[in-house]
Amino acid sequence: MKFYSTNNSGHQVDLREAVIKGLAPDQGLYMPCSIPRMPKDFFEKLPSLSFQEIGYEVIGNIFSEDLSKDQIKDLVDHTLTFDAPLVKVEEKVYSLELFHGPTLAFKDFGARFCSKLMSLLVEDQKIKVLVATSGDTGSAVANGFYKVPGVEVVILYPSGKVSVLQEKQFTTLGENVTALEVDGVFDDCQRMVKEAFLDKELNEQMLLTSANSINIARWIPQCLYYFYAFSRLPKTTDKLAVAVPSGNFGNIAAGILAERMGLPIDTFVAATNINKVVPDYLGGATFRARPSLQTISNSMDVGNPSNFYRLLALYGNDEEELKAKVKGYFYDDGTTRGAMKKVKKETGYIMDPHGAVAYLGLKEFLEDHEGYTGIFLETAHPGKFNNVVEETLDIQLPLPERLETFLHGTKKTEPLKNDFRAFKEYLKSH
Ligand SMILES: *Cc1c(COP(=O)(O)O)cnc(C)c1O
Repeated sequence: MKFYSTNNSGHQVDLREAVIKGLAPDQGLYMPCSIPRMPKDFFEKLPSLSFQEIGYEVIGNIFSEDLSKDQIKDLVDHTLTFDAPLVKVEEKVYSLELFHGPTLAFKDFGARFCSKLMSLLVEDQKIKVLVATSGDTGSAVANGFYKVPGVEVVILYPSGKVSVLQEKQFTTLGENVTALEVDGVFDDCQRMVKEAFLDKELNEQMLLTSANSINIARWIPQCLYYFYAFSRLPKTTDKLAVAVPSGNFGNIAAGILAERMGLPIDTFVAATNINKVVPDYLGGATFRARPSLQTISNSMDVGNPSNFYRLLALYGNDEEELKAKVKGYFYDDGTTRGAMKKVKKETGYIMDPHGAVAYLGLKEFLEDHEGYTGIFLETAHPGKFNNVVEETLDIQLPLPERLETFLHGTKKTEPLKNDFRAFKEYLKSH
């Protein structure tokens, strides 16, 4: 499979280059040059397949030219180590729980797949993954790459500026994960990482990569749980609507990839908080990035969604088709809290603020359209946002065990001066 840049379809690279570069040199996003449809018999046997078996077939179909059967099995087994249960919340409304992985958010799927794929692609070489984080990216990447052979992870984070729990999730692991505590702010960390990628001497001496969230190795595997959710849905003649709580729009773009491979999803509901650049666009406005606003669903506080051009590319840059298939909805924090309360009261189900935004979008769509069954994606464990959830629902929500375990770990970091030369010295000597 070759991958082209969304900024120039003539620029095409192989899988290895697309994964190690992450972003195309012209700043475009990499896209597969063709999207293979799944064979008819795959859909016939889908309900009897396990999550892993679905993974072998779908990933096998995309990467058949690039990876061996054994490699594909390794990759899928390393990624799908936890379930994604489909839970009935109300009549015709299901929650797809994507938060049963090590850091309790759906980003675990992409991070685990990415780490394993990188280690397969570089073979006997060693690769260093550099990450600047203000919190959440560090934990997903560190845990996804933990103990993966041949891969070293170096995380830069601003000292004293991430929450204790976030810090514990990437500073207590050890092994192939090193956390550098920078006396500066997040932007300083980001600048030093960018400078390292541009440094000729460093790049001659070592293989550096970024595992950025737009990397195809983080993006593509997210299509798997759409197939899985569909396979677990009770038999129905209804059409299917899937609602995705969206920030950078990578997750929903992966759902559309599944649909383009033949999965019968009729409509996507793109649900956001008040950072509503894409719902505005889908409603007829021109696409215009804006500064992001802070909300209680803060992983979706994105004013310039980096996967927007992937959405367009998936529909052959046909805006009308995109607007016909994807409906945009947005909600403020008060409405989101209201949905969390209502669903808890009526059904007992506890939603995190991100899942609640998707639930709202789905319900609004279902109210206006008959003959549909709906799935909303629950992207984070409610316990990850326990302050908001406890305050909204007036309950005590104990920290999930996996997070609690991190809190008992010992923080191991190395201090780093806010100076690129110090960072370069560190990379050369480790
Ligand atoms: C990252 C994140 C999102 C947004 O996903 P995108 O792929 O960026 O649209 C939604 N919910 C949670 C909990 C997240 O961490």
